[in-house]
Order: sequence, then structure tokens, then C-alpha cells
Amino acid sequence: MARDDEFDLIRWIQKQSPVRPPVELGIGDDCAILGASAIGRSMLVTTDMLVEGRHFLLEAAGPELVGRKALAVNLSDIAAMAGRPTAAFISVALPRSRGRELAEGLYRGLLPLAERFGVTIAGGDTNSWDGPLVINVTLMGESGVGGPVRRSGAGPGDILFVTGPLGGSLGGRHLTFEPRVDLALQLKARFKVLAMMDVSDGLSSDLRHMAEACGAGAVIEADRIPIHDDVDSGLTLAERVDHALSDGEDFELLFAVSPAEAAQLERPDSGFSVHRIGRLATGEGVSLERGGEIFPLPVGGWVHRLE
Ligand SMILES: [Mg+2]
Repeated sequence: MARDDEFDLIRWIQKQSPVRPPVELGIGDDCAILGASAIGRSMLVTTDMLVEGRHFLLEAAGPELVGRKALAVNLSDIAAMAGRPTAAFISVALPRSRGRELAEGLYRGLLPLAERFGVTIAGGDTNSWDGPLVINVTLMGESGVGGPVRRSGAGPGDILFVTGPLGGSLGGRHLTFEPRVDLALQLKARFKVLAMMDVSDGLSSDLRHMAEACGAGAVIEADRIPIHDDVDSGLTLAERVDHALSDGEDFELLFAVSPAEAAQLERPDSGFSVHRIGRLATGEGVSLERGGEIFPLPVGGWVHRLE
């Protein structure tokens, strides 16, 4: 793409997304301007890069779903801290031949999501090159009242939940998933959420990180793991559990609350349909409880090899 075409593309992008508070000035000057956060709130920043051939196959996914995912994974990280997203900065490296077409495709995919979550596209960078398509999104957000929820705030005895069924995401759901922004804000408003993160690498791996951050171990009750319908129903139960533990890219939230709060959350009239999966415990590492026995879960899952 020639430099003039890049300016034209930037003007096109500018017209696609209205500027909303806390963004005071979006695309068009040397920097974007954001108003300072309200007192007692923190600013959250997260970033994620998707590279063609490494994270997606362009021919299979199409630019719209790639653009959507690039924003959605960042929305999921803001949700993981119970934040409200505000402004996105989007940088792309476009293959020279179809640059404009691909750029518009990316934006067609991500703009509806930005609109729905109140995110202003406040800046970014556009380049053309002879390499594959690369898109990087940096997303800013604001914590809710009471501050962001870290992954480190729980301890032994606290109860673990996930917000939805897991596994089989790579069949397509990883491109179309719904970031749990609103659910996280509602949970935080009603309950004392002690620790939270999103499930991106897979429950067994992500829970390992949370447990370590909490200075604790974790026990998952195998029978409680919600297995997504996307997991092949022809597999054995142990294989299906493996998929739920290890596939990753679920983008559900994993969180911990106290036992008393867990009891409230599990009441049929709580208004939340989240899944209790286990607890934090003394010690370290992640264990699986099944049929009254507890055994350590190897890094990377693969429960059925233990049978
Ligand atoms: Mg995360």
C-alpha cells in the first residue's frame, strides 16, 4: 500500500468508531488523549498480537473473524480483572497485495464488538510489508469500584468456579466466543471475588498459574468439570475431561470466592449459572479428585494416560 493509501485507510478507520469518554481525542493527532480515571479506579492495560500462520490461518478464518478475535482476547483479559474496557489501539502489518481489503475485513469484524462494549478505537499504526498479516490490539480499561481483581487474592479453602463449559474451542468457538465482561462486572458487584483470570491456555495450565500466584495448591473435582458440547461426544469420558482441561482458548473466567460466598452463589435464586469445579488447598500444583481419590495432574493434562 502506498503512503497516501495508508492515510486514506486511517481516515476510513477514524470514521468507523465514535469517540467516547474517557477518550477525549482519538485518531488524528500525535497521541490520543484519555481523561484521568475517577478517584479509586485504576487504569488497566493489556495487549495481544495475532500472527497469520502462527495463531490463525487467514484462508480458513477470514479477516473478519481474525479482527474480531484480536479484540475479543483483549476484552477477555479486561474481564478477567473485572474491568470495563475503554479504548483500543490497533496496529496492523498488512500483506502488500490485498492490504486495504484485509484491513477493512479486520475492522468489519472488530467494530461491532467495540461498539457493543463501548470501546473507542483511539489509535494505532498501519504498515504494509511482504510478510503475513499481523494484528496487535492494545486495550485499556478501568477497574470497577474496589479495584481490579488479581489472580493472587485467594488461598487454601477458597472455592473455584468457571463461568462456562470448556473444551473443543479450536473447532471454531475460539474465533466467535463472547468475552465475559458483563458477567465479571456483575459477579464483582454482588460477591467478593478473591481471585480471577481468564481461561486461555487451558484450565489445568491456567489454574496452575492462579494457584501459584495464591501460594496454594488446587484440587479439581473431575465430575464437576463442565465439558462443552464442542468436545467430540464419541470419546471416552476421560478423553473428554482431558479436552476440557487442556484444549484452551475457552475464554471463560476462572475465579475463587470464600466457602460462604460460594454457598450464596450456588443458590438457585442467585441469578448466576456458574460452575463450581473445586477448591484451593494447602501445598502446590493442581490435583484431580475422582472417586474419592486425589492424584496430581501432570503439567499439560492428559488424565486418561493415568488410567
Ligand atoms: Mg489472561
